Amino acid sequence: MRIANHAGRLTLLHGGAEIDVARLSGERFGHRIEDIFERWEEFTAWAAAVNPDHPAASSGTADVGPVSPRPRQVIGVGLNYVDHAREAGSPLPTVPLLFTKFPSAIAGPDADVELSGDSVDWEVELVVVIGREAARVSKDDAWSCIAGLTVGQDISDREVQLQGSTPQYSFGKSFRNYAPIGPVLVTPDEFEDLDRLSLKCWIGDELVQDGTSGDLVFSIPELIEYISSEVTLYPGDLIFTGTPAGVGLGMTPQRFLTDGDVITSSITGIGSMTNKVRARAGKVGAL
Ligand code: ZN
Repeated sequence: MRIANHAGRLTLLHGGAEIDVARLSGERFGHRIEDIFERWEEFTAWAAAVNPDHPAASSGTADVGPVSPRPRQVIGVGLNYVDHAREAGSPLPTVPLLFTKFPSAIAGPDADVELSGDSVDWEVELVVVIGREAARVSKDDAWSCIAGLTVGQDISDREVQLQGSTPQYSFGKSFRNYAPIGPVLVTPDEFEDLDRLSLKCWIGDELVQDGTSGDLVFSIPELIEYISSEVTLYPGDLIFTGTPAGVGLGMTPQRFLTDGDVITSSITGIGSMTNKVRARAGKVGAL
C-alpha cells in the first residue's frame, strides 16, 4: 500500500488512481495524514478492501506534503553505512549513534532548501515511519511497529553541526526545511528485498550518492530494538536511518550546496523527490 499527503489530504495511491480517503470512507477517517498513524491497523484493514475503480478515485496531481507532517520525535542515525563511515575517516560504530532532527524541520518532497551558510550538505536516507507505539520491542517484532518507509534528505549545515568542543548535531540538522520527506509512504509488504534497496542522490545531473540498504551497519530492526529499549516510539515518529557515501563533506576538495542546485533523491520501490536550493539574504543571527 502507498499513501501520500496531497494538498493536505490523506490519499491512497492505488494503481494509477489517487483516492481521497476521507471522502471514500465517508469521513470515517479524516483528511489529515498525521492522524492516521494512531489508527494504523484499522486503516490498513479498510484500505486493503478499497476498490480502485470506485468513482471517488481521481488521477489529479496535487501539491504534495510530507507523509508524516507532525511526528513527536525524529531520530537520526550517524555513520550507519559502511562506506560512509569510511569516507568520514571513522571506525564503524559499535552502538547506533543517535541524534535528533527537531520535528519543525519536516517539509514536503518539493520543499525548497534555503542555504544557511557555505557548508550545507546533502544526505539521502531511507526513513522509517512508525505505525504503532513501540517500547522494548525486540528486533524480531520490529517490523510490526512500522507503518512504512519513505525517502528523506538529512540536510546538514556542517559548520554548525561540527562546531564546539563537543559537537551537537541537532541544531545544524534542524533548520527550516532541512528534513524534506516523501513523496509517498510505502508499506513494508510492497518491497521484494528490503536489504537491497538502492539509494541515489543527484546534484543537478551528477550522481553523487549511489548506495544500498545492504550496506547498513545497524539494520532497521536492530535500530528499533536499540531505540525502543529506552525511548518509547509513537505512531508517526520518524527514524532517518543514515546515509551512504558521497556527501560533500567527504569529497576532496569538499563541496557544498550552492544557489540554484537541484537535489534529487530516490530509493527503489518508493520514488524520488526534488528539492531546489536557494540562497538566503544574510546569515542566521546565531551563526
Ligand atoms: Zn544523516
